[in-house]
Amino acid sequence: MGEQRVKRAFKYRFYPTPEQARQLTETFGCVRKVYNMALEVRSRAWAEERRRIGYAETSAMLTAWKKEDECSYLSDVSSVPLQQTLRHLHSAFESFFTKCSGYPRFMSRKRSRSSAEYTRSAFRWRDGELILAKMRAPLDIRWSRPLPPEARPSTVTVSRDAAGRWFVSLLVEDQPQQRRQVAHAAAVGIDAGLHSLVTLSTGEKVPNPRLGRENSGRLARAQRELARKEKGSRNQAKARRKVARVHAQIADRRRDFLHKLSTRIVQEDQLVAIEDLPVSNLVCNRSLARSVADASWAELRRMLEYKCAWYGRELVVVDRYFPSSRMCSACGLVRDPLPLDVREWRCNGCGARHDRDHNAAQNLLAAGQAVSACGAGVRPQRNPSVRAVGDEAGNPVSRAVGAPGPGGDVKRRTPGRRSSSRPGSARCRAARG
Ligand SMILES: [Zn+2]
Repeated sequence: MGEQRVKRAFKYRFYPTPEQARQLTETFGCVRKVYNMALEVRSRAWAEERRRIGYAETSAMLTAWKKEDECSYLSDVSSVPLQQTLRHLHSAFESFFTKCSGYPRFMSRKRSRSSAEYTRSAFRWRDGELILAKMRAPLDIRWSRPLPPEARPSTVTVSRDAAGRWFVSLLVEDQPQQRRQVAHAAAVGIDAGLHSLVTLSTGEKVPNPRLGRENSGRLARAQRELARKEKGSRNQAKARRKVARVHAQIADRRRDFLHKLSTRIVQEDQLVAIEDLPVSNLVCNRSLARSVADASWAELRRMLEYKCAWYGRELVVVDRYFPSSRMCSACGLVRDPLPLDVREWRCNGCGARHDRDHNAAQNLLAAGQAVSACGAGVRPQRNPSVRAVGDEAGNPVSRAVGAPGPGGDVKRRTPGRRSSSRPGSARCRAARG
């Protein structure tokens, strides 16, 4: 038991000495510079000669750049974060070539996150103290929670956010926490919405974490002050940091809320069924409420994915074309699309009254249970293009009864399970019996 080990990052705040702050700021600058230079070289080689440049080639260039006069300052900082950023650039290109993400963008001092990654050769870890390369004193880390005993970080990432706060993230190997045993049947379906952040199949509605009134007041005040400052002045920079601090606090609270919610769900249930919502829509949303809700949902889903893996729970991601919100969870009848503002509806087949979100969550739960029962083993999907298709015999997925729309559901039907694979049918029988 407990054989499996996972990599976990533990993030802490730390307070650098003025000297350390200067060194780290310089390192961040060099990381950005090297990343941008390598990106330019790679882009040009591709545009002009259709030639791909790999990590090894850029690494050799880095050595040459350090010898040039105008870039000699690159030798003042540890070389490891510079090489790491070349590796990151390489994987950014890899995921661009496999069409997982867009073309790598240049890093900017204002827009991009400032960070530097140190691998094992570039830091010393002794008695719980962390000393980075080229530094004499250990970092003054606030250990807000304990590291796993005997943990030895394999990678250390130092970063500074827009509010000027410093963080260090330690990547360590860890055994997943003691699994709390739950009844095998404990399962939940989760529907993401706008009115509530999520609705659980138990009927519980979790509201969206809202901006508290004091927060929105403070944010408005800070933004007003920023608007009054002279452009480019020191006071403007100060005011900008203040706005960033309020934003950071709001984001922290939201994250905290989502952590508590996802941990609770994963601890209580053996099976978690969620909907595969298109996250790419995130960017082009005009309404703020919508985009905040989407961001929360994307983050919650990410947390559910890795926490399910830690706790040995099963996460079923149901195909986005599964008509979860317009199928009756009592009789399985699929109705016409519902306008977004319809919160409640009545089934024409069996007359059941449904709360839109609760009904959808129940359908997701049933779909998840059907997948699980058939042994589909739909894993948390890191790559949205990977979907559970085909049954044991290698046949393509059969579609749920009455489930229209492109793309198959993740549910699979195997002989002998014909009736139970239809979401809602089990409950339907129970309700009638
Ligand atoms: Zn019905």
